[in-house]
Amino acid sequence: MSILNKNIKELADGLASKEFSSAELTQFYLDRIEKYDDEVKAYNYVNENAINQAKAIDEKRSKGEDLPQFAGIPVALKDLLITKDMPTTCSSKFLEGFKPPYVGTAVSLLEESGFINLGKLSMDEFAMGSSNENAAFKQTRNPWDTEKVPGGSSGGSAAAVAAGLAPFTLGSDTGGSIRQPASLCGVVGMKPTYGRVSRFGLVAFASSLDQIGPLAKSAYDSAALLSVIGKHDAKDSTSANVEQKDYTKDLTGYVKGIKIGVPKEYFADGLSPDVKTAVDNAVKKYADLGCKLIDISLPHTDYALATYYILATAEASSNLGRYDGIRYGRRAEADNLRDLYFNSRTEGFGDEVKRRIMLGTYVLSAGYYDAYYIKAQKVRTLIKQDFVEAYKKVDAIICPTSPTTAFKAGAKTEDPIQMYLSDVYTLSLNLFGGCGLSVPCGFDSDGMPIGVQLMGNYFDEGLILNLAHAFEQATDFSRIPEKLKI
Ligand code: GLN
Repeated sequence: MSILNKNIKELADGLASKEFSSAELTQFYLDRIEKYDDEVKAYNYVNENAINQAKAIDEKRSKGEDLPQFAGIPVALKDLLITKDMPTTCSSKFLEGFKPPYVGTAVSLLEESGFINLGKLSMDEFAMGSSNENAAFKQTRNPWDTEKVPGGSSGGSAAAVAAGLAPFTLGSDTGGSIRQPASLCGVVGMKPTYGRVSRFGLVAFASSLDQIGPLAKSAYDSAALLSVIGKHDAKDSTSANVEQKDYTKDLTGYVKGIKIGVPKEYFADGLSPDVKTAVDNAVKKYADLGCKLIDISLPHTDYALATYYILATAEASSNLGRYDGIRYGRRAEADNLRDLYFNSRTEGFGDEVKRRIMLGTYVLSAGYYDAYYIKAQKVRTLIKQDFVEAYKKVDAIICPTSPTTAFKAGAKTEDPIQMYLSDVYTLSLNLFGGCGLSVPCGFDSDGMPIGVQLMGNYFDEGLILNLAHAFEQATDFSRIPEKLKI
């Protein structure tokens, strides 16, 4: 079996039995990056120490030393996860070349488990966007068709997995940024419950919504990665004090009797016919597998987009205040303090980031605060209640991940509202705070992948991962684009 098709357990077993070394495994991915990344443009930075780190692990293994579970397995990281000894840029000119002095919690948990970091992956600047076109350095393209976008903001993380430029990656999801690119690139992407994964060392966009999660070729790999990074952390005050567990144990493939809600609001206007057909077929497949499909309603769905774009921009305008030209990254030429702030921010931020800061500052300003920010907080509560009510009747919810498949680069850059609509099916879940994932469920008439979304209640990651796993066992939609295969 080619390395490309191995799951995380097979990689760990292959290393343990010395079928291949970590240096060989790491070199395999570095060679693919060398060969394909000019076209895919997923990596902002490739870790030049990866091979030496792999060799060091091989040496320990050959001496028979005790090694952590995943010692010597490569992984790659969205470029807003804080790492040491290499840049963390958030794909922003503001942080070009910026090397943080510490490591974030999720990344250090990966390190403790023995993973080797292949490098940092491109994204929309500060995670604001749905196509990776807001990236300042590399606009990642979809490996299935490089004229098209990979989705965003974790576009590099999704494309790297789809193209086999990393076995799995981490991304972040504030309104859909893991699930939407996973859907557009034909991989599995999961947003854990808010609080499941520590946000310490995740560069903040909208702190009440941000969450780190895995992107991978299978539910199994996603479950394994979540088991590593899903740990309570005193360094994040919103980290949930929930026991760390091995989610792969939940993947029994047995889903009989699980109640899955089908929300009518998610199958309305704007859903492309190809996506609708594929998602309808996925619903039927779950019925075949013995699940109980139940029609439900999430009545405040129509307000989710507006609510999200008020709250997320408000939080962003506050979080991004720290980029002042003094503390982090870019420092512009200036004669006085005001110009230093002004020039640094003018030069450092791209158009979308500026738009968000202005929107956010507006909704928080005196006179508009009650009309927008407070109102949006109230609507957020109504949206949350929709989910609370739904989960009294069902165990999980099924719906499309994205209204369309991947679109041509440039198709939506002039129309921010069209771009914002890419996340219309994903952002309610962030407002609620539960868990959700996208799993491949078909292809459109151009052969582009389609994902179906499974949403779960708070801390029900095991249940939705098992649902995705059962679906994968019964279908065959996850594969690497033909032309990218060695
Ligand atoms: N596309 C959404 C936005 O631009 C979601 C981003 C995200 O989840 N980080 O805000």
